[in-house]
Amino acid sequence: MSTPNSPNHWSGVLNSALDAVGNTPLIRLDRIAKAEGLKCNLLGKAEYFSVGGSVKDRIAKRMVEHAEKTGVLIPGQSIVIEPTSGNTGIGLALACAIKGYKCIITLPAKMSLEKEVLLKALGAEVVRTPTEAAHDAPESLIGVAETLRDKIPGGVILDQYTNPQNPLAHYFSTYGEIAYALETSDLPRKDIALLVAGAGTGGTISGLARAIRDAEKEKNDGHKAYILAADPEGSILGGGDVGQYQVEGIGYDFFPDVLDRAPELIDEWIKSNDTEAFAAAKRLIKEEGLCIGGSSGTALASALKWLRSEAGSKMAQDPDANVVVILPDGVRNYMSKPWFLEGQTGGSELHDTIRGIIGRDLN
Ligand code: PMP
Repeated sequence: MSTPNSPNHWSGVLNSALDAVGNTPLIRLDRIAKAEGLKCNLLGKAEYFSVGGSVKDRIAKRMVEHAEKTGVLIPGQSIVIEPTSGNTGIGLALACAIKGYKCIITLPAKMSLEKEVLLKALGAEVVRTPTEAAHDAPESLIGVAETLRDKIPGGVILDQYTNPQNPLAHYFSTYGEIAYALETSDLPRKDIALLVAGAGTGGTISGLARAIRDAEKEKNDGHKAYILAADPEGSILGGGDVGQYQVEGIGYDFFPDVLDRAPELIDEWIKSNDTEAFAAAKRLIKEEGLCIGGSSGTALASALKWLRSEAGSKMAQDPDANVVVILPDGVRNYMSKPWFLEGQTGGSELHDTIRGIIGRDLN
């Protein structure tokens, strides 16, 4: 069973950056809720507060520690190799920097320059792979990682796509943090009415959904959370055809093993396109001051679509209902991306006033 974290997690002095993994805040999104006419408690779990900047720090730490315990990783010998959309790579490279392992990350071309340069700063080697390569093609992020693992002595792939420690990190830590935040809040109910999370490997949503269902079985009071998976158009996870899209970290052209498709876990998949996702991400930044990344926009867009639908209308108007949206990473991962930079300058009356006063462009 998941146990809430100690309320004293941050007191005292931490031993290393690995102690600052997770323990992210659950934050009211009141301005967006009000603008949308929602009475429910719209809450965002802001994962960019974790030390490596994403929801994937917990799995990186847990996979490395488990591999060390079971002798899969040998200090001084092993080289950690991982195919990733970047955030698992950052978590792993951070753990490797602290623990002294060499690290190689394979990263599809579409992933941001910010992720690549941070990975390199953490000491990792980064190999870019073609975005459009099918997951089982030799030139894909997975294919190249496997070739390197087979050819480099000491090479180990911890493999977030199949490693049970991935969903377990969320089963124990992420769920425990949400449960603790709700229990210690002044909200009238302490349970989750709606959980919304995207799926890349599926570790986040599978681990959280399993923990929620286990907690429900234990409580046995008839309450059942509705669990929504947010999926980009172009991913097959929530149905539809394979296609290209810009949002990073979610959606795939195959079903990873750690995505638990047991019928009692995920109630519904909701698709959103890039335009909807990036618009929602910008709302979170501008209206709530939360500097989140693109996949957070997919999660919020999906949550709002469902709450606006007939199925979600009752919950949308229930002031006791807690809607928890997982916001997986931060916009500092995407500062150079066109979707973020578009529409940044000009347009406001104040901007024009300043321009008039100083007699030139502002920047
Ligand atoms: N959003 C971002 C930005 C990510 O990097 C990831 C991880 N690929 C996810 C969401 C989805 O997490 P998971 O792999 O646990 O499904």
